[in-house]
This record gives sequence, C-alpha cells and structure tokens, in this order.
Amino acid sequence: MIESKLFATKVFGDEEMRSRLTPDVYQAMHMCKTSHKPLPLEVANAVAEAMKNWAVEQGVTHYTHWFQPMTGITAEKHEAFLDLDPASEGGAIFAFTGKALIKGESDASSFPSGGLRATFEARGYTAWDPTSYAFIKDNTLCIPTAFCSFNGQALDKKTPLLRSMQALDREGVRLLHLLGNTAVTSVFSTVGAEQEYFLIDEKMYRARPDLVYTGRTLLGSRAPKGQDLDDHYYGAIKPRVAAFMADLDRELWALGVRAKTEHNEVAPAQHELAPIFDRANVATDHNQLTMEMMRKVAKRHNLACLLHEKPFEGINGSGKHNNWSLSTDAGVNLFDPGTCPEDNLQFLVIVCAVVKAVDTYQDLLRIAAASAGNDHRLSAAEAPPAVVSMFLGDELTGVLKAVEENRSYSKRARCDVEIGVKVLPRFAVDTSDRNRTSPFAFTGNKFEFRMPGAACSIADANTVLNTIVADAMCDFSDRIEAAEDRAACIKELMRDTLRKHGRIIYNGNNYSAEWSQEAAARGLLQLTDTPTALAHLTDPKNVKMYAKHGVYSPEELEASREILLDNYNKTLHIEAVTLADMVRRDVLPSVLGYIDELSRVETQLKSLGLPADGETLKEVNDLYLAEMQYVKALAVAVSEATAYQGAAAADVYAHRVIPAMRRVRAVADDLERLTPAKYWRYPTYGDILFSVE
Ligand code: ADP
Ligand code: MG
Repeated sequence: MIESKLFATKVFGDEEMRSRLTPDVYQAMHMCKTSHKPLPLEVANAVAEAMKNWAVEQGVTHYTHWFQPMTGITAEKHEAFLDLDPASEGGAIFAFTGKALIKGESDASSFPSGGLRATFEARGYTAWDPTSYAFIKDNTLCIPTAFCSFNGQALDKKTPLLRSMQALDREGVRLLHLLGNTAVTSVFSTVGAEQEYFLIDEKMYRARPDLVYTGRTLLGSRAPKGQDLDDHYYGAIKPRVAAFMADLDRELWALGVRAKTEHNEVAPAQHELAPIFDRANVATDHNQLTMEMMRKVAKRHNLACLLHEKPFEGINGSGKHNNWSLSTDAGVNLFDPGTCPEDNLQFLVIVCAVVKAVDTYQDLLRIAAASAGNDHRLSAAEAPPAVVSMFLGDELTGVLKAVEENRSYSKRARCDVEIGVKVLPRFAVDTSDRNRTSPFAFTGNKFEFRMPGAACSIADANTVLNTIVADAMCDFSDRIEAAEDRAACIKELMRDTLRKHGRIIYNGNNYSAEWSQEAAARGLLQLTDTPTALAHLTDPKNVKMYAKHGVYSPEELEASREILLDNYNKTLHIEAVTLADMVRRDVLPSVLGYIDELSRVETQLKSLGLPADGETLKEVNDLYLAEMQYVKALAVAVSEATAYQGAAAADVYAHRVIPAMRRVRAVADDLERLTPAKYWRYPTYGDILFSVE
C-alpha cells in the first residue's frame, strides 16, 4: 500500500461520511459541526449506524468514548457493540445507537474532580465532540468526547478548550466585522505542537526504578560526554531510531495525524516530531494520540520513550512548542502580515489584542506550562525562563512603535542573504529572525509558545491563548462599538494598548541575567515554580475573565487549581519515596560492599607492613554516613509534607522536600563516581544515553 493511501484509513472522516451517509444526513452532520448545534436524534442514529458498519468491516467489536480527564492523559471504557436481539430470545446483535454515540455515562469517582463531584454522586457524562473524527485504535472505535459531571461541570481538559474556541469564534467574528471584514463567519485557532522526546533502550529503562515510577532519573552522575559537541542535533538518525520513526509515522498517518518533521534534538538520545497544524481541538487530540503511539511503538522496538520534561540532569529537557495562529472560515491566516504589515490594519489590531492579552494574563500562560516536571526545565538555560514575555522581531516591533508614536513607518530594506555558492538560491532574510530564547515568539505568521513541557496536555495552553485573546478582542470591540468616530477609536486603542502593555515585548536574549533584572524593573511576574504560579489561578481578575466568556465557572476554576496542586504534591511524593528507596535498598548497600573491600585490602596491606591508601576508604565512608543522614532528613521532610494538603503541602514539597532530595542526590552522585562499576547496581547516564544504535 502506498503511503498516501495509508493516510486516515483508521478514521471515520469526511470521505467515509460522504460515501456512507445519505446526502441529507451528511448535510445535517456538516451543519452541526459548523454551527455547534446539537444533532437531531434521527441524524445521530444514522451516523452511529454508518460508523458501526464501517468499524465492524474492519474487524472492530467494541467502541469507547475517548476522553481527557484532568490527569492530562486520555481515558477510555470499552463497550461491545453487542445488544439484545429483539427477534430471538437469548440471541444478540451488533448495534450502536445515536444515543450511545452522543452521550456516555461512566463512573467518574476515580478521576480527579477537585471537589466538583462527591464520591456518592459518582456519575459523569461523556459527550461526543463531532468536530473531531472518530477513529480505530486497539481494534476499538474511539469517539472523541468531552467529560462532565451530572450538572454539566467540566471534569476534563477538552470542555474548557471547546468553550474557549467558541469564545474566540464569537469575539473574533465580532471584531473583524467592526474592522470592516464583514464576510467572515467564523474564526478559529490552529495549532501545531512540536513534540520532543527521549528514546532509550528498554532494558536500561527497566533497570531504573526512578524512570519506571517517575519518568525521570532521580540520581545519576553526568557521563563524560553529554551534548557538549553539539554532534547530535540534526545528526544522522541511527538505524534503530529510524525504524522506530518509520513505524510511528505509519501508525500516526493511519490515525489521520499528519506527522511531518522528524529530527534529532540537542541532547543525546533526544528527538522531535512535528505535525502539520490543525484546528486546536483536533491538534490536542492528535498530540495525545502521538504521545500514546510513541510509547507503544517504542515498546515494539524494545525501546522506551521518555516524555518527561527533564529525564536527565545536565543535558536539555524536552518541551512541546505550541505553534498557535488564528484562521477564518475562508482559510485566511490572521497573523499573516502580508507584504506591507504597516498598512494591514486588521493584522495590527489583532497583534495588539495579543500584546494586551499576554501582558494582562502572564500568570495564566505561566500556569498553563506549570507542572512538577516542567519546573526542572524552565529557567534552566535551555528553555525559556519562567517569566513570560513576547518576541515580535525588529520589523514588527518597528511597525508597532510607529503606531504607538503616531508616525509613519520607514521600511527596513529587505536584504538578500548571499550564501557564497553560486548554485544555491539567494533568499530574502526572514523579517522575523529566530529567537529561540523567547517564551512566546512571533515566527512570521504564527506565535510559538515555547514554555509547555513535553508531557503536558496542550489543551491548557490553547484554552488560555484562545480565551485571553478573545477577552482582549471583546474589550476592543466594546470600545469601537461605543465610539462616535470608529476609525479614530481604532487608532487610539492601538496606541493605548501599546503604551500600557508594550512592556511585555522583549526581543533580546531571555536567558541572560540582564533580562531577569530588566523584567523585574518592568514589573513582569516572576513565577518561579508551580506552587507560586498556581497561587494566581483564582485571582479575581482571572475568575472574572473566565466566567465572562463561559470557559470556566468560578467553581470549575477552583477545582482545577486543587487538582493541579494535588497532582504536584503526588508527583513529588512519589519522587521522594522512590529516591529514598533507591538509596536505601541499592545505593547504600552497593557502597557498603565497596567499603568492605577497601577495608579488607587495607587490613591485608597493613598486615604485610605495606603502606595503605586510607584516603579513599575515608572519603567513601564519610559520604556513606552523610548519605544516611540525608535520607533520614528526606523522610522527615516528606512526613512533614503529608501532614498538610493543597497549597500548604505544595509549599513544604517545594521548599523542604526538593532541597532534601537535591542533597541526597548530590552525595549519591559523588558516590557513583567513586564506586567501581561492579558494585553499582544501576545503569549510568553513559549507559542509558548511548544505549541505542
Ligand atoms: P518553524 O520552522 O518556524 O518551526 P514550521 O513550518 O516547521 O515552522 O512549523 C512548526 C510547526 O508550526 C509545525 O507543526 C507547523 O505545522 C506549525 N504551523 C505552521 N503554520 C501554522 C499555523 N498557521 N498555525 C498553527 N501552527 C502552524
Ligand atoms: Mg519551531
């Protein structure tokens, strides 16, 4: 089968619908997707029947409502298509009704709800998202759904995302109409999420309890070689990795995921996959499928795929660059500046809305990237700092400066880059040069939000982006609608926005020490870790804004904060307990074996009257004793944390447990450097990072 024929073979997409549904049903289905109106039951019945027949033809016997609870990953509960046969007693038929397609009921009690749902009201509902196609995975028909409580409160990451897309659609269309673009009927966000990951040999993975339980190494001394020579980035892909990538591509293509670019990343054993962008909700579903398939396909190749943000200390961690843009129903990219951005009023107004949104809601963007894992990555001189700012590049910044100062813009001459080799084409210098240090960079026709971590769901980042930009647009529209002279008002509101919010624009090096000082001087938020960031989630301005646009009710937002804190606390608890266990059960006994050998050798040498090396023994022994104390101190810190809950517990984990873990690790790593390999029970960084050929 040629590759293009492989694409979306496991998806009940537009083509399948067109060929299997009657024109009326197909049309009704199409209308429902574009107008967000509920599907009439008879239409749902016809769609369900066609979907089931298509799936059964491919050997499928079960279906599942596929949803994205607050755990950040996906969940599914399989049901057979089986039903009672009304025609024969004791018989059974394959059936699937519109009701079963549209709505599922499941016991929600074991999913995090942040107090939104008491255990005795365990019912949760899953509701079909007809804008994301059903697909076959593991021989099961998966129906993308949103997950909510009995009262319709969101218990997942998908519902707020879909609501944010509605807010953006409403406010985007409203603003564009006010700007004179009256042909537009819908505005939506497009997203392309670049996924970074590590690939290691599965044997190495299995030999490390820290990787198995926490996804990252909790101890491990640096290998003699890391990413120092920059010889891995974009390097030739090793055969085993190439085989994995080829297999992964085929799986993803069959699922309709448009996996496109693959390359080696900066750190040894690190790689990246980027898909072609799609609508935000579809891109979110597809990113979840990509992560799941990466893990599965890796296993098939006796590899382990690590999606943690910082699996190894001392080398780069993994992020997930969220490329985000806005599009109209006519397929026009609203962030495309055109040839004369200075004359493109619509573009400039929308960029101003983004400037206002990012500055006003720095905290929400920071929170969208906050997790225990990502705390190790942000600010580590490899990823953007924990301070949110935006990069617009020299040209766009120049244009906006001219707007702010109410003068005309003098164009920077576009110059050709001369490569120096005659056969290579000359190309114009990109007017927005790359800034790989910025958390939120304009990259020519889209924004790249670079803070999210590799393991997170991109639903959070896109819910925030959609909503805050919808909010800024709403504010602009309110002002324009109320103005006598609308043209003058538009100019004034752009100037006003840039004056008030221009501080968020920074085109320099975000990794530098000067920026840290400069950001403080500009009054930008420095939310260094997850608990500090989460403290702002329910600030009155955020509660109000989310409620205004119907994205999170105040109760849902509070629940979300509780769940995120709980997740942080649990992650750190598991890490601390795993580390203490590894040290007690493996590291200390290994070292003891070496101490025993050293002391026996010393006694022998002494009995022979020869000079003995007492120094190594003393050094190892001292470290051994120190490590015993540090592990005890770690246990004390952990038990202190468990006495609290929520934000109070998070505070203890962040400020007592993490430093205690760091001390344990430092000594363990010193011991690893001194202890002969025959005693050390774990694969080293060198073993792990260079394990795949
Ligand atoms: P870059 O070279 O700037 O990283 P690429 O073209 O490689 O840009 O794109 C990086 C990611 O951005 C890809 O996943 C791509 O699909 C996505 N992308 C490109 N255009 C858009 C857009 N208009 N909206 C959202 N994502 C986009
Ligand atoms: Mg990129």
